[in-house]
Amino acid sequence: MSGRISEDLIEEIRTSNDIVGLVSEYVPLKKQGKNYVGLCPFHQEKKPSFSVSPQRQIFHCFGCGMGGNVFKFLMEYQKMGFLDAVRYLAERANISLPARSVGYGSSSEYEPLYKANHLAAAHYHQQLLEGIEGEGARRYLKERGFSGEVVKAFRLGYAPPGWDSLIKRAGRHSISPEVLFKAGLAIKREFDEGYYDRFRNRLIFPITNASGKYIAFGGRVLEESDEVKYINSPETPLYQKGRTLYGLFQAKEAIRKAGAAVIVEGYTDLLSLFQAGIKNVVASLGTSLTEHQARLLSRYAREAIIVYDADPAGIAAAQRGLDVLLAADVSAKVLSLPAGMDPDQAVREKGGEYLAKGFQNAESFLDFKLRHVRQKPTFASVAGKAEAIEELGRTIGLIDDPIKRGLFVKEAAEKMGVDERLVALAVEKASPRKRGRLKVETRVAEVIPQETQLVERKLLALLLQHPSMISQVRGRLAAEDFSKEDHRKLAEGILAADEKGPVKPAALISSLAALGLESLVSELCFLEESGQVEKLVADRVRYLETKRLLREERELSSQLQDAEKKGDEQLVNRLTQRLYQIAQKRFEITSASG
Ligand SMILES: [Zn+2]
Repeated sequence: MSGRISEDLIEEIRTSNDIVGLVSEYVPLKKQGKNYVGLCPFHQEKKPSFSVSPQRQIFHCFGCGMGGNVFKFLMEYQKMGFLDAVRYLAERANISLPARSVGYGSSSEYEPLYKANHLAAAHYHQQLLEGIEGEGARRYLKERGFSGEVVKAFRLGYAPPGWDSLIKRAGRHSISPEVLFKAGLAIKREFDEGYYDRFRNRLIFPITNASGKYIAFGGRVLEESDEVKYINSPETPLYQKGRTLYGLFQAKEAIRKAGAAVIVEGYTDLLSLFQAGIKNVVASLGTSLTEHQARLLSRYAREAIIVYDADPAGIAAAQRGLDVLLAADVSAKVLSLPAGMDPDQAVREKGGEYLAKGFQNAESFLDFKLRHVRQKPTFASVAGKAEAIEELGRTIGLIDDPIKRGLFVKEAAEKMGVDERLVALAVEKASPRKRGRLKVETRVAEVIPQETQLVERKLLALLLQHPSMISQVRGRLAAEDFSKEDHRKLAEGILAADEKGPVKPAALISSLAALGLESLVSELCFLEESGQVEKLVADRVRYLETKRLLREERELSSQLQDAEKKGDEQLVNRLTQRLYQIAQKRFEITSASG
């Protein structure tokens, strides 16, 4: 698995990348006791069940079971192969790899899909710049006023009208139609064998991930017709809807510099703003921002300004957008455009200056919400006011920081002219999480674990957490003494690793990855238990030893019966003696446990 990079080097790379630092680049974490917790990036959740241990350099989610070390985190989060994760972290820690191991030959299963997307982006871009059929697309961009700089920065493209332009081009690069299909670039014929290009006669907007790799495409028709105006790549292993922000790769430096991001809805809105010099802009590519997008953005910006049209759909989208941003710990503001005007139009009709000034005066989330609850005809009545307070309470309740929350409660109460306690009450009532102590949600297991399995788990957890205890087990228990297969494999791994040196669970994960034991190891690392470690280990070793002796006893007894039937006196003697020794041993164990 480790290819040409030695295990020692992999271990050096692992220990040079602190897991809390790495994970925090992607997931907001909060300290809780010895560990850090946050919302799991691998499944949808409202309460944090994702834990990171700085001490053991391991993460684990008690909601979905995902767990592992820094390599595993990157592999899952960035959809990288193991070697890519190793390379990435080596670079991050300024460790140089042997020249031979850098470069191509990655084992990642995603690599062919990236390659297909990369080729498609190049093909479409070339067709736009030079293709004879690309004339209409070039004219369209010119009429819309998009410069060559924007076309280049976003690598806009054009998919020619034929059925197999991309398939043919890919064929010359040994990329099969099946791979194009998996990458969402080709469609299977319904009544015939084979495939055809998904994007035909459309202006192409390539979508990249935050590191600039092509993962999907959007295609727009050039003239108004019966066809759908925009089509997008379907979900693929590389691309999940609502998890990407269009333009983030191009915008991230500007966002970091400005400390804030501008959020628009569509491709052309974004391109217009970018061209007008507003470069810290991303597009949600959907009507409203998703939780994933907000969390992705929170890695780069503390503040975001949502720009949406002032029509009812736009307002509703902005309201939802504000909530997800606040929940992701991003301060949210809104810039409302005049009714019926989208950001693209605003730039073209009023200029970039107009928007830039607008951003400076953007409404805070609170003012925006207040303005809208006040506009409701019911606001004058008691019931209407109560409803408004509850609505604001729900939004303020999403803010995690208690100081910020308190300040907004105060401000909201003042601006509404109501008692502060009423707003605080609404926040408390709406608040989805338990304040103060975050409780890790433990799901009810489908099957109640049998006592033996539980003992095995607890013993393995102790050995991972206190590797000095492994010597207490060696010689008394072997891997075969564990009843569950995963436990056997893990025990074997722990005992083998211990022979080479002190066991580190996070290192063990890399070597046991092929056996699929990552999440078992990470889970056991977080299994807390009170009591004296030596005694707990000794008790469990005795328990499992006793189990083994009982198994042996049963086996020998049945052999003894056979031997007696056959009249094999010698064997009877040997078996009786062995059974006596086992009984003796069991007696010793029982009396030792006192
Ligand atoms: Zn999870």
